Amino acid sequence: MELKDIKIKRNVLLNPGPATTTDSVKLAQVVPDICPREKEFAGLMKGLRSDLLKVAHAPQDQYTTVLFCGSGTVNLDICINSLVPDGKKILVVNNGAYNTRAVEICRMYHIPHIDLKSSIFEQPDLNVVERTLQENPDVAVVYCCHHETGTGVLNPISEIGALAHKYGAIFVTDTTSSLGMIPVDVIKDNIDFCMASAQKGLMAMAGLSFIIGRTDIIKASKNYPTRSYYCNLYLQYEYFEKTGEMHFTPPVQTVYATIQALKEYFEVGEEAKFARHRRVYEAIRKGVKELGFETVIDPRIESGLVVSVKYPDNPNWDFDKVHDYCYERGFTIYPGKISTANTFRLCALGTIDVKDIEDFFVVLSNALDFYNIRLK
Ligand SMILES: *Cc1c(COP(=O)(O)O)cnc(C)c1O
Repeated sequence: MELKDIKIKRNVLLNPGPATTTDSVKLAQVVPDICPREKEFAGLMKGLRSDLLKVAHAPQDQYTTVLFCGSGTVNLDICINSLVPDGKKILVVNNGAYNTRAVEICRMYHIPHIDLKSSIFEQPDLNVVERTLQENPDVAVVYCCHHETGTGVLNPISEIGALAHKYGAIFVTDTTSSLGMIPVDVIKDNIDFCMASAQKGLMAMAGLSFIIGRTDIIKASKNYPTRSYYCNLYLQYEYFEKTGEMHFTPPVQTVYATIQALKEYFEVGEEAKFARHRRVYEAIRKGVKELGFETVIDPRIESGLVVSVKYPDNPNWDFDKVHDYCYERGFTIYPGKISTANTFRLCALGTIDVKDIEDFFVVLSNALDFYNIRLK
């Protein structure tokens, strides 16, 4: 039997990553054993680093990709602990759970920061961001998550990046749940650093994360305070430049899967992939409405990748039971991340299409009937 003839059960993941992958990406991990210190493996990572620049439209002569072993949060940790110079501050434009995670990282490292909190149901107010920058000339880094995966709100990063630059700060954005799905252009979007993980937009496996950022700033950060041994941006960059390798053991098989996933990404193309995610999202919104559920976020500010759905006001509703009913039939739904409202999330990540969503709503509708949950 050949590898490609292996049958793998297909699950439709409607959680916000890891996402449903193609079989070719799954199977790309089955490779002969290799020591990652071999030149052959360094060559693979070199190509991978430069392909990742293309996903973010980052010019090779100004930007570089630094790879890390770890889930997406490792990127937040690294950017925050590595990019704040001595005596300077970071401003976190915070309208959700992932920006709050960045604030928590600042606290853990005792990094001077401003937690500019605003409603999780809205985009941040740019006037307030500007005023904060005017009042705090010691802000060296402005940080904001692109797509707040907890709610589905898409933040105006290009505008926030422009404000950062106007006041002499750099702009760091968490694009973990947007890069590779929504077109991101580091130049047009005023991004100095962005980041993502292989298991989300690229539709590969967990374990590989990457930061795309300005080479000159990484070099300058050599002289910034070092706050972590394992998670330091300059040290990892320098090691890549000297040896072509990660400082410590890379997630070998995930690297192979990511290379295959990128090949498939470029074959499909940015625009066509964006359009597919969009139609999956529209199908989710349609299905939710038809069943009589209510949603939380105004679609005009939604990313088009996550729909936050309110728990219905019905005594028979039990998220876990409905989840299990769907899960047993190959569909994974996911709890919400909003502390003030009970919600669950349906996401348009992964290699899924409208037919999968239609099939899902048949199953969800059956689950509602089964547990006698009438919504209208
Ligand atoms: C998924 C995600 C992360 C990383 O989460 P991990 O569980 O560490 O992979 C970071 N930021 C955003 C916006 C995300 O959606």
